[in-house]
Amino acid sequence: MDVADIPGVPDWLPDYLRADGIESLYPPQAEAVTAGVTEGENLVASVPTASGKTLVAELAMLSHVGEGSGTALYIVPLRALASEKAAEFEAFESYGVDVGVSTGNYESSGEWLSDSDIVVATSEKVDSLVRNDAAWIDDLSCVVTDEVHLVDDGERGPTLEVTLAKLRQLNPGLQTVALSATIGNADELADWLDAELVDSEWRPIELRKGVHYGQALHLEDGSQQELRVHDGESETAAVVRDTLADDGSTLVFVNSRRNAEAAARRLATTTRDALDEEERTRLAEVAADIRDVSDTETSEDLADAVADGAAFHHAGLAADHRSLVEDAFRDRLIKTVCATPTLAAGVNTPSRRVVVRDWRRYDGSTGGMAPLSVLEVHQMMGRAGRPGLDPYGEAVLLANNHDELDELFERYVWADPEPVRSKLAAEPALRTHLLATVASGFASSRGGLLEFLERTLYAAQTAERDRLEGVTDDVLTYLERNEFLTREAQSASERSSDGDQLQATGLGHTVSRLYLDPMSAAEIIDGLRDADDRPSALGLYHLVARTPDMYELYLRSGDDEEYTMLAYEREEDFLGAMLSEFEEGRFEDWLAALKTARLLEDWASEIEEDEITDRYGVGPGDIRGKVETAQWLLGAAESLAGELGLDCVPAIREARTRVEHGVRAELVDLAGVRGVGRKRARRLYDAGIRTRADLREADKAVVLGALRGREKTAENVLENAGRQDPSMDGIDPADVAGVEDTAAGSDAAEGPAGTADSEDQSSLGDF
Ligand code: ADP
Repeated sequence: MDVADIPGVPDWLPDYLRADGIESLYPPQAEAVTAGVTEGENLVASVPTASGKTLVAELAMLSHVGEGSGTALYIVPLRALASEKAAEFEAFESYGVDVGVSTGNYESSGEWLSDSDIVVATSEKVDSLVRNDAAWIDDLSCVVTDEVHLVDDGERGPTLEVTLAKLRQLNPGLQTVALSATIGNADELADWLDAELVDSEWRPIELRKGVHYGQALHLEDGSQQELRVHDGESETAAVVRDTLADDGSTLVFVNSRRNAEAAARRLATTTRDALDEEERTRLAEVAADIRDVSDTETSEDLADAVADGAAFHHAGLAADHRSLVEDAFRDRLIKTVCATPTLAAGVNTPSRRVVVRDWRRYDGSTGGMAPLSVLEVHQMMGRAGRPGLDPYGEAVLLANNHDELDELFERYVWADPEPVRSKLAAEPALRTHLLATVASGFASSRGGLLEFLERTLYAAQTAERDRLEGVTDDVLTYLERNEFLTREAQSASERSSDGDQLQATGLGHTVSRLYLDPMSAAEIIDGLRDADDRPSALGLYHLVARTPDMYELYLRSGDDEEYTMLAYEREEDFLGAMLSEFEEGRFEDWLAALKTARLLEDWASEIEEDEITDRYGVGPGDIRGKVETAQWLLGAAESLAGELGLDCVPAIREARTRVEHGVRAELVDLAGVRGVGRKRARRLYDAGIRTRADLREADKAVVLGALRGREKTAENVLENAGRQDPSMDGIDPADVAGVEDTAAGSDAAEGPAGTADSEDQSSLGDF
């Protein structure tokens, strides 16, 4: 189908697409148009990775742009992808299409987004907007869900499922478009969403799957290609070297961050030899940019590997690290990237070959290694082959012996992806969503609640209605016991349980708006009720760290003992009863929370970032993640304490602002000035400038001295502190004790990892 023949889209679109090299639609895109995706029809498109799903989404959304139409919403699975997708859609802004990204705090309603034509957000964010009665949500005319197969994800799937059900109940005329990787039961998703179905295996570039074993690549068509492994070389290195000989790049998927880093380090010795002079120079520049992002070992290691043409990529990296790596890989400067599966989830980084090195990963629920799903492996494999550049893509698994060769063919190469199944009936998911559904008025009785649940994928898929009803009743009992909602029979004569009227209490409304798991809220409330007026920061950090909303730091060997000791030393600090060592399992979790709490305390005590990454075995992105989650949970604790009339509100606020800025209490005021941050605040403070007000009065020479002679920075800071005349013209920096002059400036990283809103809030889907 020629781009000029697409009905229902703005007049400028065909020229725009042609300018981007798109003359005609790919077959699945054409099918989607024929099915009516630009004319308001609901659509489920199940199409292989990298086969142009984004354009289908764009066509749908653009068909809603213009006079009198509402907003189109694009739901992404990871926060890290929100800005990336928005940046793609911003290309339409020159045609008057406004694009907004909704990340940030859960409790805001984002009213400013009502003027946007396209809004990009995660499902968690959309869910919270609905809970906060964001009025513009009622004016949506189109919703697009990317990677809808993730409804299968135990942790985040239910939110996506419930959110779609709510949006569809709110806007009966809403067009729903859901994009999915190739799955076995796309027809069920289409039934659930009353949608047309495009179910296609078509790819713009041929993909050959296979397994490397011995000295050859065994491909799915039965052919073999010699690919020799040299003495002392790993199979992965052999593939990378072989691909380089053909001027191609290789994406290597591994199962942990540490493995990604180690593999990149080793493969750098292979890629190094293939670089020419110009590549070496340009890579040195990329490496320097990477070092500038943060002062950590991870940053150093990444820069070292990149200088040699190799890189690692995982969710522990700062967003700036990730985009530098992705860009240099797309520019063909970096020859191999070793990644955890986050990269398979939506980042557009095709390469000639993909190696799925690890097809098992650690599974916390069983405590052992478990094989990846076929869907995941196929998504990784789908990254092979760059349209227009490569004749075809090749994706390979690696076998150690003949049996494994057979097994991998059976398990992955020839296998079909698993069907997608709703995970809604799990208790933690229902706990959160049932309270929210009642609090935001989608249901006001038990019967109404069950009726609402009928709109979910779970109901569409299950034959066991009783099970959902049973779990619903358990959850209602829990919510009632914790005073989040009340349940009353309508009248004596209607005392059937279906008629029970449900109403959220004030506390229940707050919990729902704050986006807390009710179990987290209950834990926080218990702890706060137990606290005196001035609970310690560590006590508060531990309280929020042990809620189910904080993802855990794992205990390493030896940690058990260390944190048990700490627990006794700091016994006074903890809120709520201290668990006994003899409560197996739960005590481990309690200690893991203590580890997180001490990380937060270290951060809020101005311990250097690289010392923290070392001490806890985490990346800079993890510190960011923990800090953001703690900030959110402490903010929630503050609201709950206020609601309950407790006196510890100021103490919570202090603990929150300390962790927000990573400073001790005395620096909170200074660090709150934009452009200051933890290191500069400490230097200003040591130079005698103690508050924001001091900044307005202080001797400029001292300010400049404390800020290492950087005039622009100093002017900025003074302006942000509200100083009338911030100019540094003609000012000489004073000698300030303790401030060494480093031209390179190690204070690039003022925040954890130096960047804001880069990481997903929790459940990174990474390990
Ligand atoms: P997916 O979302 O399915 O993983 P993308 O939407 O990222 O895949 O598309 C992959 C690439 O294909 C993009 O670079 C995009 O510009 C290009 N592309 C999409 N549709 C067409 C088309 N009809 N003709 C040429 N290139 C296209």
